[in-house]
Amino acid sequence: MKFADRIEKLPPYLFAQISKKVAAKKADGIDVISFGIGDPDLPTPTHIIDALCEAAREPANHRYPETEGLPDFRAAVARWYEGRFGVRLDPAKEVLSLIGSKEGISHVALCFIDPGDVALVPDPAYPVYEIGTMFAGGESYKIPLTEDRGFLPDLDAIPAGVAHRAKLLWLNYPNNPTGAVADIDFFERAVHFAKRYDIAICHDGPYSEVAYDEYVPVSFMQAKGAMDVGIEFHSLSKSYNMTGWRIGMAVGNPRIIDALMRVKSNIDSGASQAIQRMAIAALDGPQDTIAAHNAIYQRRRDKVVAALRNLGLRVTPPKASLYVWAKVPDGMTSAAFAERLLDQAAVIVTPGNGYGEHGEGYVRLSLTLPDDRVDEGLRRIAAVPALA
Ligand code: PLP
Repeated sequence: MKFADRIEKLPPYLFAQISKKVAAKKADGIDVISFGIGDPDLPTPTHIIDALCEAAREPANHRYPETEGLPDFRAAVARWYEGRFGVRLDPAKEVLSLIGSKEGISHVALCFIDPGDVALVPDPAYPVYEIGTMFAGGESYKIPLTEDRGFLPDLDAIPAGVAHRAKLLWLNYPNNPTGAVADIDFFERAVHFAKRYDIAICHDGPYSEVAYDEYVPVSFMQAKGAMDVGIEFHSLSKSYNMTGWRIGMAVGNPRIIDALMRVKSNIDSGASQAIQRMAIAALDGPQDTIAAHNAIYQRRRDKVVAALRNLGLRVTPPKASLYVWAKVPDGMTSAAFAERLLDQAAVIVTPGNGYGEHGEGYVRLSLTLPDDRVDEGLRRIAAVPALA
């Protein structure tokens, strides 16, 4: 059997490696506390589950969906974007349903990248931007996100030769893994850059509703000219604790939306209609659970930040996202730090270098575990001798 190069080149999925380590510890009877994956521990709100129960009984929802999504779903997304961001979208042409945003993020590379083409990919970043590019036969040119620039890329530092070759620029704010945020001014500079070099922008914004201290994240689509050059990926996963249901959306430039729809229609058969009905209930329904959940995450964030600072680690409390991004002690690598916590405290944190070479020197802690587990995890970390 001879596998394709893309399989040989594929690094092990970051969380698959971590899951393996956790499974090994658990098999030894050890209670492992994981600050690893960003998967909300809180349940999907009841009114959203009720919509699923009703939709499940409707025979029309037992059949193949349309790739682009139910007209009602696309209209609900457009209403939500207008209500939340003041962005007007044509539901027929500027909204597309996704089987979770990860699905669209990985497939969009097929719309732009031919073998040898370049995508501009932040480093550190959610790994799927780079993997999607690689699957399409392209190359990722890494744009560093560094603390001194608030983890925003310096677009002017990209060599003109690279920018001329690039077809796609990836951005993601509120950011995973750094927790950094971007304002409209930054997005408008990105639009300007994209127009100058004729590059499409894909902005990935699943954390726009997970924010703290009265901070209200913006959408890339609010930037002047964004509709001319790009799309935004969004998701119900983090806003409504719906990671398990797999529903997301792409919105923005109609030509890109159409290209992605055409790619998808040859690969999948769209998101389950019953789950689209859940999404409609989520987007149109009461939004009070968002603030209630953010208050819980904020309390956990404050505990994690305080505990890490007590150990002498440098941490900026994130204004948004589900993650605390902490600088490991001088002289230690991300992997060594994470391994020490796993071995000596049975606590999982994600080594920053798993998100790219500029993530080296950091670890990411997710806030998606119950408060008592957060407390116990932090107590164990504080007791690790070399760190205390
Ligand atoms: N984008 C980012 C930055 C993420 O962190 C994640 C999930 O963790 C996703 C996209 C995918 O979310 P989903 O596929 O659940 O919509």
